[in-house]
Amino acid sequence: MKKLEQLYEGKAKKVYKTDDPELLIVDYKDDATAQNGLKKGTIHDKGIINNRVTNHLMKLLAEHGVPTHFVEELSDRETVVKKVTIVPLEVIVRNIAAGSLSKRLGLPEGTKLKSTVLEYCYKDDALGDPMVNDYHIFAMELATREELDLIAKYSLMVNDFLTTYLKDLGIELIDFKLEFGKTSDGTIILADEISPDTCRFWDSATGEKLDKDRFRRDMGGEEDAYKEIMRRLLGE
Ligand code: ADP
Ligand code: UDP
Repeated sequence: MKKLEQLYEGKAKKVYKTDDPELLIVDYKDDATAQNGLKKGTIHDKGIINNRVTNHLMKLLAEHGVPTHFVEELSDRETVVKKVTIVPLEVIVRNIAAGSLSKRLGLPEGTKLKSTVLEYCYKDDALGDPMVNDYHIFAMELATREELDLIAKYSLMVNDFLTTYLKDLGIELIDFKLEFGKTSDGTIILADEISPDTCRFWDSATGEKLDKDRFRRDMGGEEDAYKEIMRRLLGE
């Protein structure tokens, strides 16, 4: 599979065309951003860890009934994925209050939520990814009722699988963000990434943060935290 012209360079990944119109290659960078691009830096080997962790989790999710864009890992940083039209929503799933939810609702970080919370944000950097509900989504034709029902169902399946899988590795899944896309035949599949950039992972025993919050909050130790996630998930 050959990398052809670059289609897009995002904050964390580059996306390339291939000789197959249905397939793309994503190339994970070490660049890290926070506060909607205001804070910039790099996390050594983040691209390798996020690529390998995402692929590992997407393979397991496919076995558990969640269709994904994953096709083949080409190298440490590069993966062949199915090309989709991204549904312009960030789907956020929360088990424990943290981050923007804690601020918005005054719930101290670490408060266990009585039931899982699903949130949607409209994917638009210029607007700062504002939160929307299903009425906004249908009014703006971001997704149909059937598509959104499937997206919600898959998101909860991802949460059920990941929560149990990670608990066995001594990791508490606090919250995470997913993106979905539509293939050329209209099938909804999980796309983008599932990594310490897009999830909050806390060590079950100590509560230590093992994710991008270390970078966002200038805590230090982000490289070791990402390495620790890779070690627990992939054994290296
Ligand atoms: P951002 O665009 O937020 O800076 P990235 O640097 O991660 O994020 O860029 C990757 C881009 O590729 C994102 O916009 C994401 O929605 C998009 N993307 C992810 N998976 C696919 C896919 N399978 N097909 C098409 N686009 C995808
Ligand atoms: N998240 C993400 N990309 C975003 C916003 C959020 O991957 O653009 C993830 C984030 O890593 C966390 C979850 O979604 O796991 C919830 O984030 P929150 O809304 O609390 O936002 P934050 O506090 O990061 O601003």
